[in-house]
Amino acid sequence: MSLNSTPSSERAHIVFVGMRNAGKSSLMNRIIGQDLAIVSPEKGTTTDPVRKAMELLPLGPAVMIDTPGLDDDGELGKLRVGKARRELSRCDAAVVVIDGTEKVSKEVISIVESIRKRNIPFVIAINKADAIPEPEKVLSSVLEIFPGSSAVLVSAADGRGADRLKELIAGAVQRDDDRPIVRDLLSPGDAVMLVIPIDKAAPKGRLILPQQQTIRDILEGGGRCIAVREDEVSRTLSEPGMKPHLVITDSQVFGSVAKAVPEDIPLTSFSILMARYKGNLSSAVRGAAAISSLKGGERILISEGCTHHRQCGDIGSVRIPGWIRNFTGHDFCYEFSSGTGFPDDLSPYSLIIHCGGCMLTEKEMQHRYREAEEEGIPITNYGILIAFLHGILRRSLGPFPDILSYLQR
Ligand code: SF4
Repeated sequence: MSLNSTPSSERAHIVFVGMRNAGKSSLMNRIIGQDLAIVSPEKGTTTDPVRKAMELLPLGPAVMIDTPGLDDDGELGKLRVGKARRELSRCDAAVVVIDGTEKVSKEVISIVESIRKRNIPFVIAINKADAIPEPEKVLSSVLEIFPGSSAVLVSAADGRGADRLKELIAGAVQRDDDRPIVRDLLSPGDAVMLVIPIDKAAPKGRLILPQQQTIRDILEGGGRCIAVREDEVSRTLSEPGMKPHLVITDSQVFGSVAKAVPEDIPLTSFSILMARYKGNLSSAVRGAAAISSLKGGERILISEGCTHHRQCGDIGSVRIPGWIRNFTGHDFCYEFSSGTGFPDDLSPYSLIIHCGGCMLTEKEMQHRYREAEEEGIPITNYGILIAFLHGILRRSLGPFPDILSYLQR
């Protein structure tokens, strides 16, 4: 996959944080090698996070995010600081930029504490090294304040230390890119049937990301893929010798596919695989089951990861509310969010139904699940809720006995 075609959700997200005028933007530009973030000697030039995709060797595809200063003041300033902190919740690693010519501020000490509390890998970049009379002394005093951390003297102005900083960032990012989506359930040579509707909701000329990733994962595990549309499932399964090891379907056609696939062939969905891959399957199962205890009139948040144009068609806005009504017999108050606009205050909601989040990073999805769990709000995803509402969740969890036994309990 070329650099430009690597989806944002699959890139390591690196956030630059620090005080205004510590040189975050200049340093990020130095690392990226272009003048993307606007820089000026005036404090507070960066008012919104600025992102840039790049290839960070030896790590690979990454997104660098420049944020407003942590000491930004006034009402608007506080909102900007909130945005910077939010970026931290979803990043793979942080670069804490400090101005080496000044004392380490209490804001920087507090942000490092909160980064540590959240187990976010970080590197301290002591900027303006070209203007520090005794740089090594400054490095030692920073390491005394932040014992055990990685720190490097850098200069956005003349580029010293920039390569070392890139190496430290790459080393700090702990990504387990080798996690399986489905190949751990297969042996080499196993056949897997993939049911992929090609309807008006499907993007023109390509498969969606979870489908592409699943195919890649099956091939990587030495498995074989048979991709069919939902109206070809019965005929394909009736061919002599055709007994796939597993059937994976799009959630929207789960009902008809479940009828067409004999009970002795394990069946699951892309949504379930992706929830497991992103580490939130058990919460999503618990969230789906919570629908049974809701009373009419409560508020339900439907959240989608796409911004401009919703690739999941009318599932969230029309079909899911309809299925919920049929299942519970109640009407609810639905509110919608999209893209990065996930509400800060989740307390008004009795349930959050999230899309599969294929355009969001794993960290972002985990952050949303964690926020919901901390507030005690059940959260689930489209595919798992659809399977639950149609009475087929149990079957679709067959390949995952641990989660199934949890659901049974
Ligand atoms: S981010 Fe969500 S709404 Fe957008 S395509 Fe992926 S699953 Fe669908």
